[in-house]
Amino acid sequence: MNALRLLGCAALIALLPSASGFAEASPKGREYYEQRGEIVWEVPTEDPLVALTFDDGPDRSHTPEILALLKQYNAKATFFVVGDKVARYPDLVRAELAAGHEVGNHTYHHPSLKAVSAGDMLKEIDSTQEAVLKATGLKPVLFRPPGGWYNEAVVELIKRNRMQLVLWSWNQDTWDWARPGVNHIVTKVLRGVKGGNIVLMHDYVPGSSQTVQALRIILPELQRRHYRFVTVSELLQHRPVHGLRQRAEGSDSPPQIPDPVRESRGALGKDPVSERGLEQE
Ligand SMILES: [Zn+2]
Repeated sequence: MNALRLLGCAALIALLPSASGFAEASPKGREYYEQRGEIVWEVPTEDPLVALTFDDGPDRSHTPEILALLKQYNAKATFFVVGDKVARYPDLVRAELAAGHEVGNHTYHHPSLKAVSAGDMLKEIDSTQEAVLKATGLKPVLFRPPGGWYNEAVVELIKRNRMQLVLWSWNQDTWDWARPGVNHIVTKVLRGVKGGNIVLMHDYVPGSSQTVQALRIILPELQRRHYRFVTVSELLQHRPVHGLRQRAEGSDSPPQIPDPVRESRGALGKDPVSERGLEQE
């Protein structure tokens, strides 16, 4: 488990042949899940919006640096946190929310879900929900699996618990976890950026991180191009209407599109997950 923890979330992807290799885990493929709204890779829009996401934290040194930079550029972002680090650094998760960012669930121990039983999968998700609740009084509604690995069981589990599974734009996988060079990270983000992109970065990288240095270039440049940095839940408000209809008309009682910001802010003093029946599953 410790070895797994050391792997950045995208590190696991490196073991797969390509982004499209996800289809091996789940043969239905991207289009199927995207049309049903069960997995979000990005939210194409004419509006100049970008959702920066940071996985695998919180981290005692990198997370505060990133928070300071985001503040400087009035940027909102989404942090997919690992539960056992939330338990260790609850103050950092509180700081993320206090600054208007969003917190998503990235499992408790960062295992590859490929190697986890259904029961343990639920524990990974539920214990992270509890850790964030204990730290902040709120529960996430977004979920991102380690390494982006999913199959039908993961999709169904997340759907049943009325969470939204979120991955990232395939053109915005920065590989920052591998420290490929600041220029590589910067170029990856800036070269093909489009409205509605979801950018994958990490606020925990074993050893030193190039992410902060890259952000010092990316943030002002995208701002110069009039991009606005929003949370994933704000970006989800720009989802095409046909996706919503498809979900609403589905025969398998699909969940409503979650509104993580509204739900999490309304969750103070409540227990939205037990209301949604997580404990009964
Ligand atoms: Zn990860």
